[in-house]
Amino acid sequence: MKKLNIAIVGATGVVGQAFLTVLEESPLHVGRLYLFASARSAGKKIRFRGAEYAVEELTAASFRPGALDYALFSAGGAVAQTFAPLAAAAGATVVDNSSAWRMHDDVPLVVPEVNIDDARHPPRGIIANPNCSTIQTMLPLKALADGYGLRRVVYTTYQAVSGAGAKGIRDLEATLRGDPPAFFPYAIAQNCIPHIDRFADDDYTKEELKMINETRKILHLPALPVTATCVRVPIFNGHSVAIVAETERPFDVQTVKQAFAVFPGLLVQDDVAAAKYPVAEQANGRNEVLVGRIRRDFSQPNSLHIWCVADNIRKGAAANAVQIIEYLEQPTRKTHTYGT
Ligand code: NAP
Repeated sequence: MKKLNIAIVGATGVVGQAFLTVLEESPLHVGRLYLFASARSAGKKIRFRGAEYAVEELTAASFRPGALDYALFSAGGAVAQTFAPLAAAAGATVVDNSSAWRMHDDVPLVVPEVNIDDARHPPRGIIANPNCSTIQTMLPLKALADGYGLRRVVYTTYQAVSGAGAKGIRDLEATLRGDPPAFFPYAIAQNCIPHIDRFADDDYTKEELKMINETRKILHLPALPVTATCVRVPIFNGHSVAIVAETERPFDVQTVKQAFAVFPGLLVQDDVAAAKYPVAEQANGRNEVLVGRIRRDFSQPNSLHIWCVADNIRKGAAANAVQIIEYLEQPTRKTHTYGT
């Protein structure tokens, strides 16, 4: 495999640091590595595979033509809006973690196990990484869509504070000590807060609208009825999502479990007699999505409950982005077994 020159924009952030960890574990060969952040972090030293790299301030001159194969962005929407086109114009394929480009028609929104073919020739040179909660639900839902057709999806999320970056983690630490919240609207310690991102249309939050719209785009089902309630919970890392999925055609629950078990990147942990089901601490540090409590919803025909858990910093952000590059560079790659 050829050596790849890679830039990380937002290298000092929660996701940026995870990019480096996941890249270290990845079979990808990294040639030159460039680390960018704001002026606040310029000169900071970061280690990668035994070598030390200095963080540079991101500027309009950061991307020299032909210098990069890929640029991994995790520095927020405003930075991506301005700088992702500059990196793409310099010849890099950009994989952006923010929401800035996700719903553009000419920007593929990709979970590699589900729709890597969308990413092969991105018209703008930009590929968008979906919202963290959406990424993890795509794996079981794609298996259901392929097997039985999807008729409707209902999400309820239980999202960790790391999903809000460093300031979310600091707010849980502070409110656990009894200090007032500085970021979330209420003390996240001892509370579940049904409010992630801003309120938007019809009293939905933007996080809920992201899950609804991104699900339709990734699965190529633009008219799929989807609804969501997104909740921040007082845990540091690992998102859990309760999914209710209604299918077009009848299914057998055991057959569904078998389809999940062979789906790339999906692990079934479902043995209620042994109290076996996924919880966030089992998902943390892994790149796979864990599912359990898979059972028929008796309130509707052809309806299924799934409990779906993943490391939001890994599969919900950094690992998904690095896997996009792995799939593009190794077209035969089907499964992911590292990062346990
Ligand atoms: P974070 O911990 O707050 O890190 C933000 C990063 O962006 C830092 O490296 C920061 O550099 C850099 N940055 C900020 N302003 C900049 C500027 N003007 N120029 C260059 N760099 C700048 O946030 P995060 O959780 O890593 O999230 C980063 C992005 O990933 C966001 O768009 C977020 O929505 C997305 N994302 C996060 C998750 C998650 O679970 N956390 C999941 C999916 C997507 P300094 O250190 O110099 O300030």
